[in-house]
Amino acid sequence: MTAFSTLNALPPAQLENLNELGYLSMTPVQAAALPAILAGQDVRVQAKTGSGKTAAFGLGLLQHIDAGRFQTQSLILCPTRELADQVANELRRLARFLPNIKILTLCGGQPFGAQRDSLQHAPHIIVATPGRLLDHLQKKTVSLAALQTLVMDEADRMLDMGFSDAIDEVIRFAPSSRQTLLFSATWPAAIAAISGRVQRDPLTIEIDSVEALPAIEQRFYEVSRGGKIPLLQKLLSQLRPASCVVFCNTKKDCQAVCDTLNDAGQSTLALHGDLEQRDRDRTLVRFANGSARVLVATDVAARGLDIKSLELVINYELAWDPEVHVHRIGRTARAGNSGLAISFCAPEEAQRANILAEMLHLKLNWQNAPSGVNITPLEAEMATLCIEGGKKAKMRAGDVLGALTGDMGLTGTDIGKIDVHPAHVYVAVRQSVARQAWKQLQNGKIKGKSVRVHLLK
Ligand code: ADP
Ligand code: MG
Repeated sequence: MTAFSTLNALPPAQLENLNELGYLSMTPVQAAALPAILAGQDVRVQAKTGSGKTAAFGLGLLQHIDAGRFQTQSLILCPTRELADQVANELRRLARFLPNIKILTLCGGQPFGAQRDSLQHAPHIIVATPGRLLDHLQKKTVSLAALQTLVMDEADRMLDMGFSDAIDEVIRFAPSSRQTLLFSATWPAAIAAISGRVQRDPLTIEIDSVEALPAIEQRFYEVSRGGKIPLLQKLLSQLRPASCVVFCNTKKDCQAVCDTLNDAGQSTLALHGDLEQRDRDRTLVRFANGSARVLVATDVAARGLDIKSLELVINYELAWDPEVHVHRIGRTARAGNSGLAISFCAPEEAQRANILAEMLHLKLNWQNAPSGVNITPLEAEMATLCIEGGKKAKMRAGDVLGALTGDMGLTGTDIGKIDVHPAHVYVAVRQSVARQAWKQLQNGKIKGKSVRVHLLK
């Protein structure tokens, strides 16, 4: 993970803004392209959809905009109106901390007259499709005389749509001293050719990975130590996450929070260093297979946690180390989803909060505790059966599935994840059929042998 602050080029207000957008660190494209883009170099980037290309050029061009000069300083060419709208929206988000930046989209299919009217005052940034922009340039309703940055976004699609000539003509209106950035998902010969015509010594960047980073929203609650459990209950009842990890700094807190939640009927497990390895494995299995909705964990113990979709992370207590904080909240919003991270802050943790804010360029987004929430405990959908045997006994997932569905008449939808460990098999089954499945397995057979089964509690 590379933080935007390592670029040493973005102003603190922009770093704060990026944090508010939930952009915790740079995507691979951004990390590779931003240093050169910010230094004013021409860059050409091949990277797949979803890799964060908009912010790569957006952060670069915003850096060079002089809001006090009412001239068009940046132009982004896009293949379609939808893409132009998307780019303009992302640029507006990235420009939120800059007052009075005017961003205008100019696309075909919209009335020319209205566009001409809004061009009375030149926008700082234009996002356009090539054809319509060319009309404006020819009618002199747009001037590119002061252009500093030209971006061709989705260049391959623009060529597919037959915009090659229009692009060349548009560029004739732009000063040759400009910076030119070219982005494309694929790299056919025609793209190399256009790059050769319009770019100067471009840096070539090629990124294979598609993995974009998730955006994580952070909320902070000021709450006394004693008020933390009631607040936790309220938030769980209000947000009702399918799965949630609550981080504590000590084993003692971890167990205490877990016990209190369980007493209140919340389906909760604890994960900390005092547990034996076997119990830790079981806890991870049960949380991942849906047999518990909430996991209360310490940082060290949570290392083995690999959950695809964690909706919510709650910091019951703030981490001392900003890196630990980032690591904690980075566990939500995997697999391209967006995520939510909530932090509790008691008065005695105020100093930690300030360190976090400063080191991470975070504006602490304070919230009021929700009011009027009925506490309705979260119940797990599944329960876990533990069968003795496992890999050593040559038991496979299919054997267990076969026994449960064939002999015992459960349907496939009653059965969830099956984890085969060396000495045990863990099967998730729907709560409603768990006892029945347990009894039947105890009396039945797997691969012709009777087995010992426990229903984990
Ligand atoms: P591309 O143009 O490469 O297809 P986008 O620029 O549209 O990708 O970005 C894809 C998504 O990733 C958008 O929702 C954007 O808000 C988000 N995003 C971009 N950069 C980051 C980042 N550094 N951290 C988190 N999310 C990001
Ligand atoms: Mg894009």
